[in-house]
Amino acid sequence: MVGEAHSIWKGKMMRDVKRVVIVGGVAGGASAAARARRLSEEAEIVMFERGEHISFANCGMPYYIGDVITDRERLLVETPAAMRKRYRIDVRTRTEVVGIDRENKRVLAKNLSDSREEWVKYDALILSPGAMPIRPAGFDSKLVFTLRNIADMDAIRRQIDERHVRRVLVIGGGHIGLEMAEAIRERDADVVLVELSRQVMSTMDAEMTEPIRRQLEIHGVDLRLGVSVDRIEEVEGRGLTATLSDGKKVECDMAILSIGVRPEVSLAKEAGLTIGELGGLWWMSICGRAIRTFTRWGMRWRWNILWEEGR
Ligand SMILES: Cc1cc2nc3c(=O)[nH]c(=O)nc-3n(C[C@H](O)[C@H](O)[C@H](O)COP(=O)(O)OP(=O)(O)OC[C@H]3O[C@@H](n4cnc5c(N)ncnc54)[C@H](O)[C@@H]3O)c2cc1C
Repeated sequence: MVGEAHSIWKGKMMRDVKRVVIVGGVAGGASAAARARRLSEEAEIVMFERGEHISFANCGMPYYIGDVITDRERLLVETPAAMRKRYRIDVRTRTEVVGIDRENKRVLAKNLSDSREEWVKYDALILSPGAMPIRPAGFDSKLVFTLRNIADMDAIRRQIDERHVRRVLVIGGGHIGLEMAEAIRERDADVVLVELSRQVMSTMDAEMTEPIRRQLEIHGVDLRLGVSVDRIEEVEGRGLTATLSDGKKVECDMAILSIGVRPEVSLAKEAGLTIGELGGLWWMSICGRAIRTFTRWGMRWRWNILWEEGR
């Protein structure tokens, strides 16, 4: 599938794509931009990113919070300026694509600094909008944090540094929850880790997770398995009180919500593109129009690309 997507991409790039527009500038978007440049010296490549940063090392963020990585700059793999210089890519950060006009092959880009909107035409469009952390209703306190990008990371670290956080509730015992539990223990704060299933890392066989559970205990994590957080309330001047499904209460200074992600598909939906069974972008090829979404879960990385061309 990789080979097929690449060869179609390559053939088309060489033929008639004058401008490639990319939505999203992190792992998927920035890799696609660099690849597009390698395939065509001539094409104009415009990459839109809603946030301030592109191509950062997401996997390092918990370690910066834990003060294991101390140099924040090391997480910024590529800067907009470096990408402009090295690949001649027109990187537009703090700019959100708010609409796709497939009929006229153009996107509506909104500059989030001054709210100005502009239509930008494309010959090929790549959607790589990623996925956002799930935040259920009622978990909207500013003391309940999620971790997806550099801004989230800075906010969590600032909270720990400036508010002298002593006790943190981590909700969800998957990859990010475990990494955050470790990071917070590195900062000498107590951790209560609540996980709905009867084991951490619910995607693994139970016996495989036993050594992880042991390590959590050795490192002083207060692990609560088989319970959920039903309610979380801010207590004026005293942090948060969470009510668990077993009726117990947990008091903490802040909480990290890491219960999974939801694909960002609203833009694609509004443009009438197909959404797959699992809620992500879908690929299809109809009558000379090729729309492809490439999703790969192995090795814990995901890359959703939607490529539209050839009307
Ligand atoms: C804390 C943490 C640790 C991780 N650790 C690992 C690890 O160790 N190993 C590993 O393989 N993976 C890890 N991952 C997962 C990995 O980071 C993701 O799989 C990867 O970032 C996905 O890249 P992406 O480009 O598809 O999506 P994202 O990183 O979500 O990037 C999509 C970007 O698109 C932007 N965007 C969305 N819609 C629009 C729009 N309409 N206009 C403009 N911009 C838009 C968003 O702002 C976002 O920045 C980790 C993730 C996190 C959060």
